[in-house]
Amino acid sequence: MLKKYFGDYGGMFVPETLVAPLKEVEQAFIAIQDDDVFQRELQDLLVNYAGRSTPLTHAKNLSKIAGCNIYLKREDLLHGGAHKTNNTLGQALLAKRMGKTRIIAETGAGQHGVATAMAGALLGIPVDVYMGSIDVARQAMNVERMKLFGATVHSVDSGSATLKDAINDALRDWVTNVENTYYCFGTAAGPYPFPSLVAYMQRVIGVEAREQILEMAGALPDAAFACVGGGSNAIGLFSGFLEDDTVQLFGAEAAGEGLSSHKHAATLLKGDLGVFHGMLSKFVQDADGQIAQTHSVSAGLDYPGIGPEHVLLQEKERVTYLGVTDEEALNAFELIAKQEGILAAFESCHAVALAMREAKRFSKDANLLINVSGRGDKDLESYVRLRGAV
Ligand SMILES: *Cc1c(COP(=O)(O)O)cnc(C)c1O
Repeated sequence: MLKKYFGDYGGMFVPETLVAPLKEVEQAFIAIQDDDVFQRELQDLLVNYAGRSTPLTHAKNLSKIAGCNIYLKREDLLHGGAHKTNNTLGQALLAKRMGKTRIIAETGAGQHGVATAMAGALLGIPVDVYMGSIDVARQAMNVERMKLFGATVHSVDSGSATLKDAINDALRDWVTNVENTYYCFGTAAGPYPFPSLVAYMQRVIGVEAREQILEMAGALPDAAFACVGGGSNAIGLFSGFLEDDTVQLFGAEAAGEGLSSHKHAATLLKGDLGVFHGMLSKFVQDADGQIAQTHSVSAGLDYPGIGPEHVLLQEKERVTYLGVTDEEALNAFELIAKQEGILAAFESCHAVALAMREAKRFSKDANLLINVSGRGDKDLESYVRLRGAV
């Protein structure tokens, strides 16, 4: 559970001033793993506040179209509308246990900022969120949500004024205020121990899904699919099946307008090794090795990096990572709405699209598991803008 490196990837590439605070997080993370009081409190929040366990749905209409059995893990039904709540509740509780009186977070589209602000409100800890000024303008409603939850939103103007700049400013804040401040990282990436810590908080998805599909289908899935931004919902789902060689694992990366265009976030498919955000991993870079400005229809997948564990899983060929275009994701958004009455997040629709594409290769008895990482209400406006009123 606690690995500094995944093969050659990961590590803790940070200025010296951040080594001590990261080690403090590491020590606290080690301590909670066998701490019954912490585990009981987290379990209570996950069940009685956030609504776990989330259901597994046998999607009968999609199954007919796919030609095999499709099961949906419904993280869209978690409080907050996405899997991010698992992580922010866990880390906010960790911060409280560490005696921290302030939480900071970075956010791109605002979803992690909202989830952190929610956890801060619940536990009574003030939250400061760093967000690029372009994102602040683009995601005005999420800014309002954060403010309603009592958080302070800092608009970041440096660089490209988007997520990577927000992370830089959040790290700068942390260096200055380490004494009382906890940094709640949003995905299974960044410097050690965050990739392990976030994966730990998200593994509940895989643990539940494994039990549920064994119960409902009487078998392990033949394949499991998740979308990959920084990699947290995917690693959460996959962790339930990594040791089961019969379960094929698929990660859907955002290919934007297509892998041949340069502005996409398919980091594992088109990225190069580099050191950024405290980790050695893959990043989408320009010819000079600068981190590229990516674009995807789903803001939550629009991160030019990837958690280091995924780079290893790709290298070991344990997980197959494939690109899904904006067009395919939008088609999947329509398909799952029409067939199942579910509005799935654009991010999750990448996984749905990939599963429906790969389904052809499976027999009619096969069971395919898809993680629906979040709900799609937030994307409806974008959908109408892109495709016109329904
Ligand atoms: C943030 C987000 C993602 C992408 O983040 P990961 O860390 O890759 O899971 C996927 N789906 C939804 C609904 C999100 O909000």
